[in-house]
Parts: sequence; C-alpha cells; structure tokens
Amino acid sequence: MKKIFTSISDRLKINLIISIVLIPSLLLASVCLILAHGRISYIIFISFLTAIIISGAVLAIYLMSKEIMLAKRRSNFVSNISHELKTPLTSINMFADMLSMGLYDSEDDHDEYLSIIQKECRRLINLIDKVINYSRLESGKTEFQYKPEHIEEVVLSALKTFDEQMIDEKYEITIDISDELPQLLIDRDAITEALLNLLINAIKYSFERKVIIVSVKVENNYVVIGVKDKGIGIAEDQQKKIFEPFYRVNDPSLQNINGSGLGLTFVKYIIEAHRGKVIVESKIGYGSEFKLLLPYKDRR
Ligand code: ADP
Repeated sequence: MKKIFTSISDRLKINLIISIVLIPSLLLASVCLILAHGRISYIIFISFLTAIIISGAVLAIYLMSKEIMLAKRRSNFVSNISHELKTPLTSINMFADMLSMGLYDSEDDHDEYLSIIQKECRRLINLIDKVINYSRLESGKTEFQYKPEHIEEVVLSALKTFDEQMIDEKYEITIDISDELPQLLIDRDAITEALLNLLINAIKYSFERKVIIVSVKVENNYVVIGVKDKGIGIAEDQQKKIFEPFYRVNDPSLQNINGSGLGLTFVKYIIEAHRGKVIVESKIGYGSEFKLLLPYKDRR
C-alpha cells in the first residue's frame, strides 16, 4: 500500500539539504569554472546551471512553505483534538459522579444521565477512531478488502444510522436510488465510512433545517453516489483545499462546529483507492453536493 504522507521532518531535512548544501556548492563550483577558463561555452553552461539552481531554490522554498503550513495545521489539530477529548470526558465524569452519589430526582433523570454518558462515550470512540485511521493512512497500513456488493444495500444500511433523524421535523432526508444498479467490487466498510463522513458533514454544515438528498445512479462508466445539502456552501477557492489533511474552512461562524479536518481526506483516499473520483459542487449560502464516482467496470 502506498505511503501517502512522508514525515514532515524527513521532507524538511531534504529541502534544507538542497537549499543549504547543494545550491551554494553548485554556485561555488560554477564561479570557480568561470575564473579558471572564462570561455563562452562555460558561460552558456553556467547560465544554464544558474537557471536550474534558481528553479531548484524556488521549488525548495515552495515545498518548505507547504511543510510549514501542514505543521501549523497539525498543531491546530492537536489543540482542537485536546479540546474535543476534554469536553466529553468532563461531562462523563460529572454525570457518573452524580449517579454514584445518588444525585438525581427520578428514574427519568437517572436514565437521562446514563444516556448522556453513552452518547459522550460514542463521541469519544468516533474521535479516537478518526485519529487511529489517520495514523494508519499516514503510514500506508490501510488495507482494503474488495468484494462484489450491491451498492444500494450499502447506501441503505449506512442511512440506517440516521433513523432517528428521519423522523425528526428539523430533518428532510430524501433517498433517490435508480433501479438496476450494477454490482461493484468494493470494500463495504470503507465505502460506508466515506458515505457517513459526507452525511455527517451535510448535517453539520446545514442551517437549522437540514434538507439532504442522497442519490445513487449510473453516469457513463461510474456509479455515482451523491450527497446534496442546502447548507452554508463552500467558497470556490476552498473547494480543493478541504480535501487536504487537517484543513478546515477558516470562518468565525464555523468555530463552534466540531471537527478534525480529516473527514474529507479519508473520503478522497478511500474513493481513489477504488479508482474513483470525488467531486464537489457548491455555492455559498445555497448548499453543496459531494459526488462519489465509483467505476463499475472492474479496471483493477
Ligand atoms: P471537519 O471535521 O472539519 O468537518 P472535513 O475534512 O470533513 O473536516 O471537512 C473539511 C472542511 O470542509 C470543513 O471544516 C468544512 O469547512 C468544509 N465542509 C465539508 N463538508 C461541507 C459541507 N457539506 N458544507 C459546507 N462545508 C463543508
């Protein structure tokens, strides 16, 4: 399995070696050559070499600034994740203390405190799963188990997670699945995870009323799973960046929405491992549609 991210320090070291050692040495060698010979062919050669060196330096600076940006995002991620771990733990601790000290007025209160503890535990497990998945992805240890599957079954079973929301007035979730979809060779769990990430985002980034349409159809040689929302939308200049690890749109209005900036990184990685594509169409204030394109003619 290919390793998609090499460690930051390794890449920084390579860039630093290029900029600090290689470039000055080449420049020095060139100057020595000119001084020693002073011929026209050497001057052409040196100009050519200088152009290569300058391009190399520009590339090194570009790569280094990318590394620094990624390191910054990682550090934001660490502070976000610490906060997200602390919030549910504090509430689990508080409600467990209240239960153990008998500080509740009725059976209903007792049950409510228990269900809060369960909910917060699930939130913690989800978060920890994300971190584990990311480190697997980073080290190239993710293995997919491809089997022939009926995609409509996979989509419908993922949607079962949202049974509670289906009957909630704030939600309007529509499912539009074409007939006669071809079987796909996929890793069922991975595709479910990708779809759940999109659905959770569609809910998270919607307004008070959450209008979501999930569709499955065939287009050209692909089975296309669409998750469309009428939420806040994504500016055009952000639409590529949101798939980068740890990237979160920097908007003050989104500060209270929990997230790790890893969900869409997983989606893209999973779909590309299936030789598919992820497309986003979005307009600020009107909503977004994420499409997962899975090839149905096996090209493996
Ligand atoms: P996060 O955990 O922050 O949601 P993701 O990788 O899933 O991480 O998404 C990256 C960013 O893309 C989010 O922080 C959000 O700004 C934006 N985004 C993702 N899905 C949507 C959506 N359906 N509508 C609007 N913005 C979205």
